[in-house]
Amino acid sequence: MKTTSYISRQVENLKPSGIRRFFDLAAQMDDVISLGVGEPDFVTPWNFIEQSFHALEQGYTSYTENAGMIELREEISNYLSGSFQLDYDPNEQLVVTVGASQAIDLALRTVVEPGDEVIVVEPSFVAYVPIVSLAGGTPVTIQTKAEDDFKLKPEQVKEAITPKTKAIMLCNPNNPTGTFLNKEELQQLAKVIEKNDLLVLSDEIYAELTYDDNYTSFPSIEKMKERTILISGFSKAFAMTGWRLGYAAGPADIIAAMVKIHQYTMMCAPTMAQHAALEAMKNGRQSVQEMTESYKQRRNFIVSSLNEIGLSCPNPGGAFYAFPSIKETGLSSAEFAEQLLQEEQVAVVPGEVFGSGGEGYVRCSYATSIKQLDEAMERMKRFVEKRL
Ligand code: PMP
Repeated sequence: MKTTSYISRQVENLKPSGIRRFFDLAAQMDDVISLGVGEPDFVTPWNFIEQSFHALEQGYTSYTENAGMIELREEISNYLSGSFQLDYDPNEQLVVTVGASQAIDLALRTVVEPGDEVIVVEPSFVAYVPIVSLAGGTPVTIQTKAEDDFKLKPEQVKEAITPKTKAIMLCNPNNPTGTFLNKEELQQLAKVIEKNDLLVLSDEIYAELTYDDNYTSFPSIEKMKERTILISGFSKAFAMTGWRLGYAAGPADIIAAMVKIHQYTMMCAPTMAQHAALEAMKNGRQSVQEMTESYKQRRNFIVSSLNEIGLSCPNPGGAFYAFPSIKETGLSSAEFAEQLLQEEQVAVVPGEVFGSGGEGYVRCSYATSIKQLDEAMERMKRFVEKRL
């Protein structure tokens, strides 16, 4: 029996993630250095793991409240106020989710109606455009430019707005460019957002991983909290990708609506992961600081190495990605990534997979040891020299 015709048109039309294809290729090869994956090389700090064990030993193996354990929501609320001067009621304004991924999905499904336009700033995290489409909305993309250090300009937002625009997705620091927007830049964006009455989905999963400037959380900007759904999680700064834990904070009515979908589709985030996250919130500060310091050293190393090789790369202010130009080599980003993998066994992600403005660049994740990075840069140098 041929079952393809049973697949919904909406899902049939989704493109598979361009990142996966590269991992599958790399997985079949030996001695590959991967700068491909967007995840920490650190193992989750031991005290987080231990608390999860203890919880299991004590029999905490049941569902939690739909919105997540209240103790965890209280700790997240304390963390958001201590770190970002944000005040969220743990009972009404927070929901614990299965990764930031589920928070994005819930937020979009909660607010988007057929015909609504949602602005996505590209190059962007690969999930935004497909999730907007799955929610029934129309993604409208803005292309940030290398000459602006990939910073989103308020005029660009103005130009993208139509009577159908409902929301804008922001990601600061950005994946894949590592671009960091400071307080003044966010304030300028906020003016356009307020004037046009947009809702904001602010993905701040890399908020802890900034290296040069103080971080400003978007909802902490005047008048923005009432129109922002803050999305974050434990995967990146806390080295907890596999635990699948994130959260959303926002206006009580929107969070309650998100919890309605969550209770039917997920019930709750995994209980043992919530216990580990509780420990991360209570006693994770030092681990986060140590990992952040290490990423900063690696950022400095990879950015200066890429520029020396002749791949021009602005200094990314956050996350753990460098996004160098490969235009000088005359290759497309897919050709560059494929040939680099075949010839030198280094995996990077072609910029084209991150949407408009990504062609001509590759994403290099530097969440790997300096030793590995050093070797990867030697190999890339050899590869590039043959083409310049
Ligand atoms: N947002 C961004 C910008 C990301 O880069 C990622 C992971 N690559 C996510 C969300 C999803 O993270 P999680 O593991 O919490 O689902």
